[in-house]
Amino acid sequence: MSAPTAQPGLRKQTPARRLKAAARKARELAIIGHALASTHHPVMAQIVPMRFCNLSCAYCNEYDKVSQPVPIDEMLRRIDHLGRLGTSIITISGGEPTTHPDLDDIIRRIRHNGALAGMITNGYYLVPERIQRLNEAGLDHLQISIDNVEPDEISKKSLKVLDRKLQWLAEHADFHVNINSVVGGGIKDPQDALTIGRRAIELGFTSTIGIIHDGDGQLKPLGAEERRVWEEMRSWKKKNYSRFNQFQEAIANGQPNEWRCRAGSRYLYICENGLVHYCSQQRGYPGTPLADYTQADLDREFLTEKTCAPNCTISCVHQISHIDHWRAPQTNRVSPGTDDELVKIST
Ligand code: SF4
Ligand code: SF4
Repeated sequence: MSAPTAQPGLRKQTPARRLKAAARKARELAIIGHALASTHHPVMAQIVPMRFCNLSCAYCNEYDKVSQPVPIDEMLRRIDHLGRLGTSIITISGGEPTTHPDLDDIIRRIRHNGALAGMITNGYYLVPERIQRLNEAGLDHLQISIDNVEPDEISKKSLKVLDRKLQWLAEHADFHVNINSVVGGGIKDPQDALTIGRRAIELGFTSTIGIIHDGDGQLKPLGAEERRVWEEMRSWKKKNYSRFNQFQEAIANGQPNEWRCRAGSRYLYICENGLVHYCSQQRGYPGTPLADYTQADLDREFLTEKTCAPNCTISCVHQISHIDHWRAPQTNRVSPGTDDELVKIST
């Protein structure tokens, strides 16, 4: 089947929007240059202002139904702490971040600190006026993950529910939009990922595909039909419409990856309680308050091997860690999820 093509006119490309996209690209290139030049700062942090989510996806362990928003003064302090550590990209996630009453102020503070501002949302609360406010606050990137074409008991993040939101984004958003579709994790029809990817591209967005990880972020091989979908979307890569990497290919094949996870250093996950964790699936490590996190912590974790790495499916941490894949072998080792202490690797 042929690759879908973007249809001009669906995503409006005004001169002002082109200018913003060019400025964003320049900032991204500067971030990559800075990351290559120095290992002593986080490239990306994910921050949770709201653990509450309006949905209840069956595979998700990152939300609850009771949490209150983190007070805005505390959120601003946390963003300033990330700025103190020199963080280049701050991605707001949850729970559902658009349920936070002061989301725009959070985005503004990220930009004020000189970082790129991203957000991962289920998209349910996006309307033209809300999108316009995200533009004004300075959002750079937005990602919506869409799981199926029709809502079911596994997930309500369906194309049927969200297509109108996507059209509004195409019309009003000045920021970059990526639509992530998924396979695995009990999603009934793998073909849905293709339908969602095609629609994203038609509307002028970028499209990615992910594998839903299990409860501890570890590997699950794809079934035959899921693999076929995977291959189809991989063929689109030739047209540069979807982004893949070797890390995800190994996961699709059910094979472990050999890589150096730089979580706790180049990538930080800041939970609603303001603690630094390796990632959403390894909460508790190192579990240090962000206010107390120092250069020494960043440097230690840069050189710490995580034994969960070979079977890890968290592609954003892998992509960030890939910047340093060619340097600094790790000389400590820790096994998150066990009672192991940090051990020194003898070389
Ligand atoms: S929308 Fe996102 S945060 Fe909410 S339950 Fe689903 S996957 Fe989890
Ligand atoms: S390898 Fe890194 S990103 Fe993956 S689960 Fe372990 S700590 Fe998290």
